[in-house]
Amino acid sequence: MELKCRHSQKKIEQVEAPKSFFREKVIKKTSKHIIFVIISFFIANTFLAYIIGSDSLIKIIKEPVTQHWVGFLSIWVFTTVFYLVYSQVRELVCTVICPYGRLQGVLIDEHTLVVAYDDVRGEPRGKLSRLETTSAVKGDCVDCGLCVDVCPTGIDIRKGTQLECINCTACIDVCNEVMGKIHKPANLIGFFSENMIREKEKPTFTGRMMGYSAVILVLVGVLSYFIISRSDLDVTIMRSPGMLYQEQPDGYVSNMYSAEVINKTNHPKNITLTADDPAIKIKYIQKPGTIAKEGSVKAMFFVLIPSKNIHTPKTMVNVQVIINKQIVKTVSTAFVGPIN
Ligand code: SF4
Ligand code: SF4
Repeated sequence: MELKCRHSQKKIEQVEAPKSFFREKVIKKTSKHIIFVIISFFIANTFLAYIIGSDSLIKIIKEPVTQHWVGFLSIWVFTTVFYLVYSQVRELVCTVICPYGRLQGVLIDEHTLVVAYDDVRGEPRGKLSRLETTSAVKGDCVDCGLCVDVCPTGIDIRKGTQLECINCTACIDVCNEVMGKIHKPANLIGFFSENMIREKEKPTFTGRMMGYSAVILVLVGVLSYFIISRSDLDVTIMRSPGMLYQEQPDGYVSNMYSAEVINKTNHPKNITLTADDPAIKIKYIQKPGTIAKEGSVKAMFFVLIPSKNIHTPKTMVNVQVIINKQIVKTVSTAFVGPIN
């Protein structure tokens, strides 16, 4: 087939590329995809460590594959997903899959600072020929197209704010380089609000910004509270179902309980249970003993209260969890007994 130049319509002579060109291309492409797989593998491991914890991930890596089929397959499933994102899906993740852009669209108004093209200054755009001076065109945009070329999501910011913009600022940097070369002020593309461009308004802290800041402060506060108040142990104590009380021959009344203690730390814990009232006794059927790190134990025990101390059908008993002679948690539970 005969090829012609789009502009001059001159015939283009077709030259067969040397074999070394194809070899180089194959080497470059293969190396690129190997690097993609390595990065994807690293990210997949980090992601899995975030979900299952670094200790479990190290176990999957160190121990035989046959003992961790699920973990091993998960690493490769995540690696494949990240590799496909890198090599195939690419900017579609930002423009179609990621909800961040959609969310941003409903949050902004004419006062919001976004990456924007100053069309008041830039238009009418026009190319500069070598013989022209910069004053030969009215607007500052020389229509070089570099802001579109560098945009990772392939949009033209000169058409206005778009959902696809991920605020990477690559267009700002490249346009500033162009402005420098043609001796025009920087920031033809920059962080502007609609009103800054049209009304020459200065950036202000609007009511909407105050509202969003307040919401963020509340969220940060709630998150901080949960992090600070997070306890090392989770303790659940329940009276055994289907049983009322037992009257003991030594003047005590007993209730049977089951407990589960979860150790959320990275250290084993040796725990015992006591009641805060010295008159109340605890008699174990199954001791909690030592809980492995990130493990849990179950315990069964009787709580015994002198019958003379029971004055209501339901008495609240405080069971204390003791580690190294320190009370680390107190759990209240109901005790049923006969009224004296
Ligand atoms: S990089 Fe700047 S000068 Fe070039 S087309 Fe984009 S806005 Fe115009
Ligand atoms: S900030 Fe980034 S994503 Fe947005 S238009 Fe500029 S180059 Fe494109």
